[in-house]
Amino acid sequence: MSEKDYYEVLGVDRAASDDEIKKAYRKLAVKFHPDKNPGDKEAEEKFKEISAAFEVLKDGNKRRKYDQFGHDAFRGGGPTSGGVDPFDLFRDAFGSGGGGGGGFGSIFEDFFGGGSASAATEQRGSDLRVAVEISLEQAASGVEKEIKYQHFAECSQCSGTGAATGSGKIMCSTCGGVGQVASNQGFISIRRTCPTCAGSGVMIENPCVSCKGEGRKRSPTKIKVNVPKGVGDGNRLCSRGRGDAGPRGGPSGDLYVDVRIKTHEFLDRDEDDLFHEMMIPFTLATLGGMVQVPTLEGKVSLKVPPGTPSNKTFRIKDKGMPNLRSPSRNGDLYAKVIIQVPNKLTKEQREKLVEFGKACGEKDLSAEEGFMGKAKRFFEGEN
Ligand SMILES: [Zn+2]
Ligand SMILES: [Zn+2]
Repeated sequence: MSEKDYYEVLGVDRAASDDEIKKAYRKLAVKFHPDKNPGDKEAEEKFKEISAAFEVLKDGNKRRKYDQFGHDAFRGGGPTSGGVDPFDLFRDAFGSGGGGGGGFGSIFEDFFGGGSASAATEQRGSDLRVAVEISLEQAASGVEKEIKYQHFAECSQCSGTGAATGSGKIMCSTCGGVGQVASNQGFISIRRTCPTCAGSGVMIENPCVSCKGEGRKRSPTKIKVNVPKGVGDGNRLCSRGRGDAGPRGGPSGDLYVDVRIKTHEFLDRDEDDLFHEMMIPFTLATLGGMVQVPTLEGKVSLKVPPGTPSNKTFRIKDKGMPNLRSPSRNGDLYAKVIIQVPNKLTKEQREKLVEFGKACGEKDLSAEEGFMGKAKRFFEGEN
């Protein structure tokens, strides 16, 4: 690599301030950036030169060394004789010295994201999330819900451009049109979107008064959402482009609607099936009879045959939830029998039950021994 004077390379005075050096570098870096001059070896060489010059001149210590020793300051075994000059390591890391173009990419990454970043991209608005709560009945039938929320909307004054009427655009002075700025900490360089132009690389000459040049304004809005039948708790619906508008005309983000389904009083849901526990008196379970089972469309009658044991489950076909993907297909409703045992008996009721027990050939089970014996058998699994 040629050894041109770093100040000449950047076209600045030897007494130039840090700021002047920075500005000069940015201007040249944008001009000779390889992305803008594809295949142009001369531009590439020039870009290497200005990058190398800037690496030194932007740093007070290195600049002083350079002022004192010139390019010799950065050669192996230079003025600080003996040992390894830490600055040589620096140069190796960034490849601004020794030919072969080894470190060319590093300086790139420093400012241009590995050379792959095309200059200046539009910034997209944020995605937003809102929640909507519906009943199980609404989930079964589908429902239209109005949702109110706050978002960034395109400024109507400037149609999202951020510019006052008749005002033009100029190159962003903070990032020199690149759309990104970098800060260096030792060898590590952190790039981020330019705060001044939000990555667009341009600035507005006269910002719109209404949105202060941002091209968007925070405002309340509402949207009607069609919640489809068969929707599940925690399902997420998406409305494209209904999130925040992007700054200065950038594309809008999306709106995500999280569906929450309220707990039902009588019905539990598992996918498309519904479950109900019906409490029925032990007499009804024994003798049989009709019971009413709640469904999403009112009650239905169910015949409980005589001698129905506890936990017996009846399937009521097609009384579940519609399937989200094929809404004409319904799940089923499962009604489980829970036998109610009276915990308080009148004297008369008790006598009749004891009599019933005797008729079945049972001993009086209210006697302690009998109860314990039965419990023991039960827990040993012998009954
Ligand atoms: Zn505006
Ligand atoms: Zn900028």
